[in-house]
Amino acid sequence: MDKITIAIDGYSSCGKSTLAKQLATKLNYTYVDSGAMYRAITLYAIENGLASKEDVDASRLIPQLDKIDIDLKFDSKTGGVTTFLNGRNVEEDIRTMQVSEVVSHVSVIKEVRAKLRASQQELGKRGGVVMDGRDIGTAVFPHAEMKLFMTASPEVRALRRFNELKEKGKNVSLEEVRANLVSRDNEDTSRKEDPLIRAEDAVVLDNSNLTPNEQLALVLSWVKERTI
Ligand code: C5P
Repeated sequence: MDKITIAIDGYSSCGKSTLAKQLATKLNYTYVDSGAMYRAITLYAIENGLASKEDVDASRLIPQLDKIDIDLKFDSKTGGVTTFLNGRNVEEDIRTMQVSEVVSHVSVIKEVRAKLRASQQELGKRGGVVMDGRDIGTAVFPHAEMKLFMTASPEVRALRRFNELKEKGKNVSLEEVRANLVSRDNEDTSRKEDPLIRAEDAVVLDNSNLTPNEQLALVLSWVKERTI
């Protein structure tokens, strides 16, 4: 069976990465979390005094982009993902609220997007990849054989994300998480460069009322239709 490219886009915290990891494990594909790449550049910018919630110094960040090396490791057996920034494991550091509050301001920068798009296309050029993000089916892999556009109600998404952060021992309020999701969605859908929009040929998947396993079974049946 030929290995296809699966592009998953959608709003913040609607379970894209859960589904993408399950699909990659099941199909023995590579999983690429494109959001982790935007988060890693954001972490670099914060740590180097180039970005905060209030402001991003794009004119100083852009010339430093060549110095930023991002590496993603996916273990298809465990579904585990690790992100490295210039050789350092930053998997935990990129998931903090501090990074979540800045990432959408960094991801509007054209040069940042161009750098990451090029690496994402390189990672997926042989097929057999599941990539999730905001512009995968529209800008990164416009010819992907399978495109999904995921959505769920803001309440469901906020609660899922809140529980995830709580489990990791993070001290955040549900309202803070909800406000962050809404503001990232607004910024991601309204930016000039590769905004989050549904590709015309993407299948919409609203998982507000689906368990992860129900969702996986449904999507696997769609993938099957496209691979035989
Ligand atoms: O997927 P995740 O929520 O970790 O993504 C974090 C942020 O990275 C998004 O809110 C968006 O601003 C940016 N992003 C993007 N394009 C992608 C993936 C993520 O602009 N393909």
